[in-house]
Amino acid sequence: MPRSPLGAAPHPAAEPIDIRTYLAPRSLDEATEALRSGAVTILAGGTDLMPQSKGGRVRYHPTLMNIRRIPDLQGISEASGAVRFGALTTVTELLENAFVRSRFKALWQACDHFASDQLRNIATIGGNICNASPAGDLIVPLLIFDAQVEIASRPNGVLTKRTTPLRDFFVGPGRTRRAPDELVTAIEVPLPDERFISAFFKFGTRPALDISAISIGLGAALSDGMLDNVRVAFGAVAPTPIRAPQTEAALEGRPLAAAIDAALAAADAEIRPISDVRASAWYRRELIRNILREMLDHVSQC
Ligand SMILES: Cc1cc2nc3c(=O)[nH]c(=O)nc-3n(C[C@H](O)[C@H](O)[C@H](O)COP(=O)(O)OP(=O)(O)OC[C@H]3O[C@@H](n4cnc5c(N)ncnc54)[C@H](O)[C@@H]3O)c2cc1C
Repeated sequence: MPRSPLGAAPHPAAEPIDIRTYLAPRSLDEATEALRSGAVTILAGGTDLMPQSKGGRVRYHPTLMNIRRIPDLQGISEASGAVRFGALTTVTELLENAFVRSRFKALWQACDHFASDQLRNIATIGGNICNASPAGDLIVPLLIFDAQVEIASRPNGVLTKRTTPLRDFFVGPGRTRRAPDELVTAIEVPLPDERFISAFFKFGTRPALDISAISIGLGAALSDGMLDNVRVAFGAVAPTPIRAPQTEAALEGRPLAAAIDAALAAADAEIRPISDVRASAWYRRELIRNILREMLDHVSQC
């Protein structure tokens, strides 16, 4: 094979992509109208879509629709006790938002451990959710904040919106309850109480630019050594990111120091890890047990 001037072998010819139409709508009306055909691939940051299509895991539909010029999908705003993250909000925008840092700490920490600056500048919250990876880092903190997904479509030519709890949005790895003619427009999160504290921890096999081998989100209000309104979520230990209701119940309203062992046993029963290139199922269980213990020990000393 001939060598390039830098000595690297040239890439083999890429398989032709059969995109017949490229759209870059400037409004939600235009985008949802285009989606009515159902045969449209949605492009946000492209940081999942492009490697997946190059790797042959995803085939483009005949129409590729870049949604990045739609103003309704952008920005972070607060109204009526809830915060709305437009689907195109990037990881960098979340990281640089002081309100996210103070009131949604676990989400901010997930962004702080997300890929590299280049990826953060373009990767979107909507793309992270719609990609539906069991290891999607933004999903775990959003689950503990009881996020809702706002979805738009245009059945019968009329713009319609629905919301669904994020915890019900996922069906399996890479699969969601979003229909092909629907566009995720925003993620809405009720504003947590001032007393609500939260934390996110991710473990990967190398310190930077790694997909989570496991991740944990923890949120609760702490007073007098007891937790209430406890929320626990896990990533990369089941076919989708999950909330862990039995672990939450083991911690709810009990003196924390005495509840930790029961919580770890409940967590072990709730997760269903698999062995893959990132970690064995056994190692994932060990990580969940040890890191959850560390996080709870830390909270008990607050
Ligand atoms: C080197 C590298 C490192 C990475 N590191 C991390 C990491 O640390 N943590 C992590 O969680 N992820 C990581 N990722 C994965 C990826 O960056 C994220 O999942 C990112 O948030 C995807 O957003 P995007 O805007 O690029 O989505 P895209 O690639 O544009 O889209 C992803 C999927 O969602 C669909 N989609 C996008 N937006 C919408 C919408 N509004 N409505 C309906 N469907 C939509 C697309 O059609 C596609 O199927 C990494 C990827 C790479 C290449």
